[in-house]
Amino acid sequence: MKRPSQSRIKTLKIDGVDVAAREHESILQLAQENGIFIPTLCHLDGLSEYGGCRLCMVEMKGSNRLYPACMTYADEGMEVNTKSERLLEYRRMILEMLFTERNHVCSVCVSNGHCELQFLAAKLGMTRVELPYLNPSVSVDASHDLFIMDHNRCILCQRCVRVCGEIEWASTKGVMGRGVNARIINDLNGDWGDSTTCTSCGKCVNVCPTGALVQKGKSAGEMEKRRDWLPYLKLMHEE
Ligand code: SF4
Ligand code: SF4
Repeated sequence: MKRPSQSRIKTLKIDGVDVAAREHESILQLAQENGIFIPTLCHLDGLSEYGGCRLCMVEMKGSNRLYPACMTYADEGMEVNTKSERLLEYRRMILEMLFTERNHVCSVCVSNGHCELQFLAAKLGMTRVELPYLNPSVSVDASHDLFIMDHNRCILCQRCVRVCGEIEWASTKGVMGRGVNARIINDLNGDWGDSTTCTSCGKCVNVCPTGALVQKGKSAGEMEKRRDWLPYLKLMHEE
């Protein structure tokens, strides 16, 4: 009888601690399993990796480069460092850039107190913003019966795009444009309320880390998001 194939185990160090990883496991997954905090905004368990926010960069012994933990896979003998003054500075700079790229005014945001961007800024000690604010003129789409898209709060993490395509299989959401001019769009850039593909499932709203996607009728601070269903739905898709 053929012996079932076994996944190979890799042994490596994260922050000086010996850890064991399954083959094909990312440094981010491994760190989370071992209680090591690495910040991220675009990663979400149950969605494909996008590697776009660059907050999860880590150092690797023997290299001057920084590596995104979500897209770097554990390998035998690796020595990974997730905490250094250089990494902290780098992550704070990325957060600053996210805050200056759009118009994030937390005090008047419906997600105030339940926002991952706000949480990370506090956790990583972002006490001031030195980069110039771009103050772009961006719109709010309130055409959907149930939900609102406020482009002022969008950080282009693309969680909404991935959940809509990979889990809901509607593919309503996409990205148009590049760099600071990139925008999340519905279908061929129509109003969300006119979408013929949107099933109004609300998955995009629940995975959005900020106040960019919210439910109508919620007051500030009420807009809590739930994501515990995501890994289960992904498993069901795979079966
Ligand atoms: S409500 Fe559902 S179908 Fe509509 S855009 Fe969001 S995830 Fe896609
Ligand atoms: S709308 Fe929300 S989930 Fe979608 S890209 Fe913007 S911040 Fe991310």
